Amino acid sequence: MLVVAYLIYMFAVGFGASQTKMVYSDLVNSIKSEQVSSMLVSGNTVTVTLTNGDKAKVKIPSLDTLQADVGKEMNDQMDKGTLKQEAYETKISWTAVTNIILIIVFICVFFFGFLRKGGSGATNFTKSRARLNENTKNVTFKDVAGADEEKAELAEIVEFLKNPQKFVSLGARIPKGVLLVGSPGTGKTLLAKAVAGEAKVPFFSISGSDFVELYVGVGASRVRDLFEQAKKNRPCIVFIDEIDAVGRKRGAGMGGGHDEREQTLNQLLVEMDGFGENEGVIMMAATNRPDILDPALLRPGRFDRQIVVDVPDVKGREAILKVHSAKKPLANDVDLEEIAKATAGYSGADLENLMNESAIFAARRNHLEITRKDIEDANLKVMMGTEKRSRIITEKEKKLTAFHEAGHAVLAKLVDKTSHIHKVSIIPRGRAGGYTMYVPDEDKMYTSKNEMLDRIIVMLGGRVAEELTMDDISTGASSDIQRATDIARQMVTKYGMSEAIGPVSYDDGGEVFIGRDFAHSKAYSEKTAADIDAEVKHIMTLQYRKTEQILTENMAVLTRVAEKLLEKETIDGQEFEECFNI
Ligand code: ADP
Ligand code: MG
Ligand code: ZN
Repeated sequence: MLVVAYLIYMFAVGFGASQTKMVYSDLVNSIKSEQVSSMLVSGNTVTVTLTNGDKAKVKIPSLDTLQADVGKEMNDQMDKGTLKQEAYETKISWTAVTNIILIIVFICVFFFGFLRKGGSGATNFTKSRARLNENTKNVTFKDVAGADEEKAELAEIVEFLKNPQKFVSLGARIPKGVLLVGSPGTGKTLLAKAVAGEAKVPFFSISGSDFVELYVGVGASRVRDLFEQAKKNRPCIVFIDEIDAVGRKRGAGMGGGHDEREQTLNQLLVEMDGFGENEGVIMMAATNRPDILDPALLRPGRFDRQIVVDVPDVKGREAILKVHSAKKPLANDVDLEEIAKATAGYSGADLENLMNESAIFAARRNHLEITRKDIEDANLKVMMGTEKRSRIITEKEKKLTAFHEAGHAVLAKLVDKTSHIHKVSIIPRGRAGGYTMYVPDEDKMYTSKNEMLDRIIVMLGGRVAEELTMDDISTGASSDIQRATDIARQMVTKYGMSEAIGPVSYDDGGEVFIGRDFAHSKAYSEKTAADIDAEVKHIMTLQYRKTEQILTENMAVLTRVAEKLLEKETIDGQEFEECFNI
């Protein structure tokens, strides 16, 4: 794209239009006095056309400087339409016909290059690349297999889009923005489309990476266009895929140069605030890195609702395989349940890919149906591709995770009586290999010493269960150990709960100034520090032994939970309880 623009520019400049000498300060003044009608930025050179028709080539210190000096004026004038940001614009001199032919040849070559790579056309790049109604009418929740919890959470949005008036007249407040969080291929884009399809409303989508453009102000103006279109087509969904590309924390980049992105982000925030609640525009966005998003995006009234889209468990995988084999003839020896069991860690996209590759194998072998062998061979191919992207879970890892999570869950039930298990899973989520969700039965203001000790036991449960059942321990427990140690340290230094140290708080408010730590002297002596460390270690060791004891006594239950996890991958509170009633 850039190369094309640059070539065009090179040739364009060669064609006659009268050239004026201009330096940077002239350019700034001309923009301020609205004497510039269009400009083309190329690296640190700007080609401007003045209102009197003259052209000039101006060297600028940097794009950032130009933005800082006259960015606001440029934006205003672009809004008014008096200043245009051009790819190229020139009066063609007929002597350059051969050049033009050359240019066209170049353009064709580049265009075909683009098309083959699946890139959208290179024209019209200052206009929003939002695409209207990508056939979403045919995509419904039925096409999203498994993902029942995600769909249930989104059902409310669908209802609202179908009948906004019903909600508005009752004064209900509907979330403006929903952030879908999940690893690649888990069906976030598919879900967003399905919401639009279910509600039968238009779907405007744009990808964060589309915003990354070199031309000043383009990202921001694209955001404006996008919202303009959306407002005209209410009710509708605006979907920003890969929002992390544009929504990274501001000021986080090294050494600047991110002005363009920040401007786009600012515009996005402005637009989101610009339409009120219940106006019928629902923003949806997808990311697998919510942690790097600018906090401003996640504030109330923006993307204040997060929905985690999980990697499917064994039941989910079977359902997805069914969806993607619905239109494919399967031989009798194919057992989708069995394939689902063998594909732990696969995302929806991986499974779709698997069925597609199987069909290709079958076709190449002139089969009339897809056989078990086709799928097995296709799986070898898919696995090699998947290994790099998502994590394939080996049997050993799976077993380790099962005992680890079972350890947490069993101890949570036996020790921490104030909460109950909601869900236990060995399907990875974020950086965790599995997870145990337990919900407190009541909100509490204070935590007692014993409760804190119990919590340490629950956290250590994962590691201890690994140690007792496998002849190996994993690094998967490191954040558990870290968090448990933090609790123990707080008990000693903050809450004065240790007898050896006494009822004294050595807590400095917990703030750590990175880089300034050297000036930050401790409020206690080296000896006290050593005493604290010894006391923390004492608490941890004691709790570790207790954990070992409880789990040893309950080995039968632990094993039952782990086995159930290995079979089902995700179990709910009830299935967990059943393991105790044998
Ligand atoms: P993401 O946006 O999370 O990266 P996509 O929505 O683009 O993932 O999913 C890619 C493809 O994978 C989809 O087009 C679909 O074919 C398949 N897929 C993913 N999840 C599911 C699912 N739950 N049910 C059916 N197909 C799925
Ligand atoms: Mg996607
Ligand atoms: Zn753990």
